[in-house]
Amino acid sequence: MALKFPNSMDDCIYFTNRTLENNTGKAIAWVYRKPCPKCKKTTMGKPVVKGKVKMRAEEYVCSGCGFTEQKIEHEESLNVEIQYTCPKRGNSDEATTQYKRKSWQGVPAYVFECSKCHEKLGLTKKMKAAKKKKVADEDAESDEA
Ligand SMILES: [Zn+2]
Ligand SMILES: [Zn+2]
Repeated sequence: MALKFPNSMDDCIYFTNRTLENNTGKAIAWVYRKPCPKCKKTTMGKPVVKGKVKMRAEEYVCSGCGFTEQKIEHEESLNVEIQYTCPKRGNSDEATTQYKRKSWQGVPAYVFECSKCHEKLGLTKKMKAAKKKKVADEDAESDEA
């Protein structure tokens, strides 16, 4: 398995670069924009109104043909791609997991497994960012770049 590191943040609907468990591990993770299943010409994203991306929108649209998908359905059809260094033994590898938060150590996270020690690792929301932007906590994800 060889993941392709994104060329540009614009290619992604999610991107994060962070440490895991007290700085002993680290992870870079991203979710590529989904190619429009209808026109197949461009990729989908949050709707843009007057030049501004509506981060809180409950749907994703194709800028080419206008095809719309509900947020949850859309996101759950995508994968998070992860390059990580495991906090346990320092194993570095790649993983993919569904773009859907699951319960991990009592908090919602994108959960993946270390290929070597099979430890379950999780990418949680960045709490600081979420607190700072209480009104738009979903936005915090996109600001993590
Ligand atoms: Zn389209
Ligand atoms: Zn490990």
